[in-house]
Amino acid sequence: MIIAIDGPAASGKGTLGKRLAHHYGYRHLDTGVIYRAVAHALIQAGADLRDEAAAVAVALELDPEKFGNPVLKTQQIGEAASVVSAIPRVREVLVNFQRQFAADPPGAVLDGRDIGTVICPDADVKIFVVADPKVRARRRTMEARSRGEEADEAAVLADIIARDERDQNRPIAPLKPAADAYLLDNSQLDIEGGVRAAIDIIEAVRAGRPRT
Ligand code: C5P
Repeated sequence: MIIAIDGPAASGKGTLGKRLAHHYGYRHLDTGVIYRAVAHALIQAGADLRDEAAAVAVALELDPEKFGNPVLKTQQIGEAASVVSAIPRVREVLVNFQRQFAADPPGAVLDGRDIGTVICPDADVKIFVVADPKVRARRRTMEARSRGEEADEAAVLADIIARDERDQNRPIAPLKPAADAYLLDNSQLDIEGGVRAAIDIIEAVRAGRPRT
């Protein structure tokens, strides 16, 4: 089974993806980390984030072993990732890696922006996670502070709004729900509540129950 989870920045899809993968015994891929890794490698090489040739070269050389680097989680790299991820050739070279990950047994949960629309249009279950931008900003600020980073909530909110705007309006693979995605609004839900709501959706789909 392939579970596709998409949604805007800081909507909670990463945590949800991880928890669902654990629940079902599947593998989990946070696809945002791939774009973050490309951005980070470009910055380290001193290249411009809009330099297509440099970005493609870095994307072709990506080493998944480095996806755990904590620096990739920072706000600055998230913002840079949303710039490089708008380059069509960069997205193209990363498609196969993501599809292969999804296809390997026993099943997979992938989270990102275009999983249900572009990467895995035939996913068994598609969930589009949304949450109020202010709630997302608050959660992201708390997360950053818990890592010991300084974070100003108003600046985080501005970054989230700018990133949503860029991700939704790019010509290639824009952030939008697939026509057959289930919407999950977790503005008012804690982590457990979000996981339960997602499992309810997945179980309903598996049981062939009609959409609610
Ligand atoms: O989800 P995360 O915040 O880690 O993603 C960082 C950036 O990578 C996003 O703002 C988006 O521009 C890009 N991204 C993407 N497609 C994905 C996952 C992330 O374009 N599937």
